[in-house]
Amino acid sequence: MTLVEMGIPTVRSRPPSLDGRPDTPLLVDRFGRTARDLRVSITEKCTLRCTYCMPEEGLPPIPQHELLTVDEIVRLVGLAVEELGVREVRFTGGEPLVRRDLERIIEGCHTRVPDTPLAMTTNGVGLVHRVHGLARAGLSRVNVSLDTVDRADFARLTRRDRLNSVLAGIKAARAAGLAPVKVNAVLMRETLSGAADLLRWCLDEGCELRFIEEMPLDADHEWARANMVTAAQLLDVLGARFTLTEVGRPDPAAPAERWLVDGGPATVGVIATVTRKFCDTCDRTRLTADGMLRSCLFSDEEFDVRAALRAGATDDEIATIWRGAMWNKWAGHGIDADNFVPPERTMGAIGG
Ligand code: SAM
Ligand code: SF4
Repeated sequence: MTLVEMGIPTVRSRPPSLDGRPDTPLLVDRFGRTARDLRVSITEKCTLRCTYCMPEEGLPPIPQHELLTVDEIVRLVGLAVEELGVREVRFTGGEPLVRRDLERIIEGCHTRVPDTPLAMTTNGVGLVHRVHGLARAGLSRVNVSLDTVDRADFARLTRRDRLNSVLAGIKAARAAGLAPVKVNAVLMRETLSGAADLLRWCLDEGCELRFIEEMPLDADHEWARANMVTAAQLLDVLGARFTLTEVGRPDPAAPAERWLVDGGPATVGVIATVTRKFCDTCDRTRLTADGMLRSCLFSDEEFDVRAALRAGATDDEIATIWRGAMWNKWAGHGIDADNFVPPERTMGAIGG
């Protein structure tokens, strides 16, 4: 199997060009954006097999020695916050709970950058058993992915019958003081008719629900622009049960647009990545589980920070690679362009 067949893009070994870059420590790009939000994927493994993300058999395993270690992650997170202006760190995957050393990763990062919020995106399976330890280690917030509260639909969509474990995980996260727990739901044709039930459940549980338009990042390459459920279609479905009042985006860099539900104060969010793209305010920078820097979900350009770390690079040298990677960030994803080509890595291999 070639690297490309495994979904691993060709990696740049040359340092990225810094031509024309202003003299600033921050992660600026050519389009006036500054990255402040770091997404750190820590594994490609997962307990579910969501059809819009993973292949049925799971992703090809990353060899253990290619995964970033706890110390490497802590060093990179520390450097990103202290040298590059990152203000929030989110751990993702694959499923971050699969890593047995997740608590040590959180604790190490919290000790190194105690004032920086540390968040996690999780599918919630088994969260009930770990959430108190994670909160003690320094986790500040959690987003749980849940697309439906119908058990049969959940099992079909994720190829696993684990709805009850996810619901218990969400309740446990609130009980552990990680409020507000945000729930992320990918918009799918199969679960659209249950969207209002999911919103009702989240309102009753005090969770903030956000729907996300499906992106062409599925391992099965089934995504098609003509089939995807749009934000507008969702709002029609929810509008039949609830009164929705648009409140927009409180923070211009936040991807979710929000609507008050039945006069508020509860809201529902919609992340319309495809039909109302927000690339011009994107503030993300990404690190994959095998130690590659990516400036955009959709760009195959990666820079190998693991190799630099293990070759003995100094913090300054790594910071320079990171600044160059972001300076060369694309303007946007171009999903609507005729010549759009999905990236080689799929969502589970990048980290959403
Ligand atoms: N396993 C964790 C989870 O599911 O929350 C973290 C990793 S998952 C890749 C991160 C987020 O990406 C989840 O909210 C998931 O629903 C979302 N996601 C996965 N595939 C997607 C796709 N094709 N389009 C839009 N969102 C997607
Ligand atoms: Fe796993 Fe999350 Fe991908 Fe679902 S979306 S298969 S839970 S990584």
